[in-house]
Amino acid sequence: MNGPLLEVRSLTVSYGGDSVAVDGVDLVVREGEVCLVLGANGAGKTSLLRGIGGFASSEPGRVRGGRVTFAGADVTGLSPRAMARRGLALVPEEAKVFASLTVDENLRAVPMSGSRAVRRALVDEVTAMFPFIAERLNLPAGQLSGGERQLLGIARSLLLKPRLLMVDEASLGLSPIAVELVFDMLRSVVASWGTTLLVVEQNVRAAQSISDNAYVLETGSVVLSGPAGDVLGSERVRQTYLGLE
Ligand code: ATP
Repeated sequence: MNGPLLEVRSLTVSYGGDSVAVDGVDLVVREGEVCLVLGANGAGKTSLLRGIGGFASSEPGRVRGGRVTFAGADVTGLSPRAMARRGLALVPEEAKVFASLTVDENLRAVPMSGSRAVRRALVDEVTAMFPFIAERLNLPAGQLSGGERQLLGIARSLLLKPRLLMVDEASLGLSPIAVELVFDMLRSVVASWGTTLLVVEQNVRAAQSISDNAYVLETGSVVLSGPAGDVLGSERVRQTYLGLE
């Protein structure tokens, strides 16, 4: 494949009326890269990820303009299911798990492709990668803490073997220790599988160690982008997100 894994051009997302949540965003993610999207509440980060990864037909919100190219193909406006089949998975802000099922059952409930043996091997591989999961396989997911549920949600998405994993505010509401666990997990995904990541995150300190490039969104538009070191070191980001003068 020539060109980037994901290319977003002039993407516009609206929930109806005149207001737009994402206003002509351009974004490029190359294979193997970790891309960070920063922005205040309501800046349009979630809408951007959903605009890329697909709105389910039952959900509000729509892509009104622009184009999303994934692995060289135009995938603009496809459903989340169709996107997942092509190798693009989204972990939503509050990762969904089945509370009454055990951790193991949650993993096995993922609609993986391949033969039974292949599916089992993949569950074993993901389990082995994350000791936290291996230790809790028989625990009902409802008994997990918020951070643990996030980890399980990410692990479930990994079973789809995505080429691009989009993670929406994985650290939201988590304790500092849980945030560290989540980012350790993402780091090992990149190291072991070379998965490309597009991460929406307000916790800049947690995200900066894994990010290659960064975009800053304000009221639906990109106001700053470039190598993560430059963007996160900029005056604007330091003042707004790190509280530094
Ligand atoms: P947060 O960090 O609070 O999740 P965000 O940066 O992810 O914010 P979005 O959730 O994408 O931002 O919201 C962008 C804009 O779209 C906001 O003005 C918001 O009010 C609007 N919006 C988001 N979801 C909906 C919805 N389901 N219906 C109508 N408007 C919405």
